[in-house]
Amino acid sequence: MRLLAKQWRNEDTRIRIPAGRWVVLAALASLALWPSPLRAGPDQADSSPHIAIAARMAGDDNRVRLVLDFERLPDFELRYLHNPYRAVIDLPQTVLAFPEDSLTARGLVTAVRYGNSGKGRARLVFEFAAPARMDLVETTEEISGAIHRLVFDAVAVDDAAFAAEVANSVWTEAGQAAADAQSADPSDGSLKIVIDAGHGGIDGGAEGPAGSSEKNITLAFAEAFKEALEDVDGVDVSMTRTDDRFLSLSARVRKAREEDADLLVSLHADSIAIRSLRGATVYTLSDKASDALAQSLADQENRDEVIGGANLENAPEAVAAILVDLARAETRVFSAGLARQVIDSFEGQVKLINNPLRHAGFRVLQAPDVPSVLVELGYLSNKEDEKLLTDEEWRRNTAQLLAQSVRNYRKTILANRR
Ligand SMILES: [Zn+2]
Repeated sequence: MRLLAKQWRNEDTRIRIPAGRWVVLAALASLALWPSPLRAGPDQADSSPHIAIAARMAGDDNRVRLVLDFERLPDFELRYLHNPYRAVIDLPQTVLAFPEDSLTARGLVTAVRYGNSGKGRARLVFEFAAPARMDLVETTEEISGAIHRLVFDAVAVDDAAFAAEVANSVWTEAGQAAADAQSADPSDGSLKIVIDAGHGGIDGGAEGPAGSSEKNITLAFAEAFKEALEDVDGVDVSMTRTDDRFLSLSARVRKAREEDADLLVSLHADSIAIRSLRGATVYTLSDKASDALAQSLADQENRDEVIGGANLENAPEAVAAILVDLARAETRVFSAGLARQVIDSFEGQVKLINNPLRHAGFRVLQAPDVPSVLVELGYLSNKEDEKLLTDEEWRRNTAQLLAQSVRNYRKTILANRR
């Protein structure tokens, strides 16, 4: 079996698409579409990300075959973990661009997780029903001119053989992370979170029956949330706005990307037509709204862009759009993970709307590479909610719970890394 040494890079791995850099992206896309003249071998320092274009799994309780297709062959590291039985494949800077349903658990493989959970690498985790080993059975240098393939067979082995694989798994990255931390690089586990207080300046947002303004509620909450996060280890916080100013939705997204954020949490307290409706709701991005309420809120929020007279960013070229979509698919996995954590920590403590986990096309959630959620803390159209939203104690408690959900989210990410 060929096990390639891992290349360590400290630069950012995720596709970043600042406005006006579409040319670079288009060039990157062309690498995916045509045979690369660079022919990056394992030792070549090509800094553009790898792209996993397709993935498949097939098999039964004794053997499962995993096929990964790349636009050029990456280095990888394969390691094992006990409790549960797991194999971990670490890749360098890679966009996992295959459709979400490509790797569904089957037979011997009971769960599959993957994503760009940290800087500089992508990870695939396979959980087994029984002790198993991932044998690399084929490394195809090139198929029909452009595709490079890795084929693994997960085969059931006995406990002793699995224990030997675990013992042989050297987790060099722990040492590497420590070294990085010493050289003033952020440590492996640090999470950069950007808090976005909705609305501001001429855009006041919703207004409550007693006259409170959404833009003030979101800013006060953002400050309380920031304070609560200061008690959470390994979290680095910044805010899109710290005063009463107008910011376009794309400026907010841009800020999160410029800050190299791992998370964007956008805070709102909107009005809805049904005045009796109250409680918190957590939204993630989707092209298709989960329901009419989510749709109307997204429409309402996205109109803010027009209020400020800001230009919408130019629509990306088709080829770049494909890459953005691909990066977005894995970002969504993380966004959904965070949204779940928020609901879990609110449960029983903060009043939640029915089906509190919803999705819609909120423009502020549209960074392709920053996991993002929008939290409606409550609805200003409801009198009781307005009272809570302006109550300092409620704000402090709820901010603590939200900080707790970020702590839990970070824990699950670190667990998947290790
Ligand atoms: Zn709002």
